[in-house]
Amino acid sequence: MKTAMCPRWCEFDHPAWDDEPDGHDGLCFGGVGTGSASGDPLSVYTDDPQSLTPDQAREFACNLYRAAAWVEDQRDD
Ligand SMILES: [Zn+2]
Repeated sequence: MKTAMCPRWCEFDHPAWDDEPDGHDGLCFGGVGTGSASGDPLSVYTDDPQSLTPDQAREFACNLYRAAAWVEDQRDD
């Protein structure tokens, strides 16, 4: 179910007892996540830095870029 705390991009099916969720996960772009915690602005987060090959690094950078763009789109409410 949707809660009063849910941003419009929330697609999570919250259980009935969870009517005030602490935060929200946004879309994931490869290893790059997006989301917000209660009161925090929407942000981009990543797993711990790892060793990447050049190809992986390019893909990671691309995912970071897409995640950043998505976050900015959601802020334009
Ligand atoms: Zn929600």
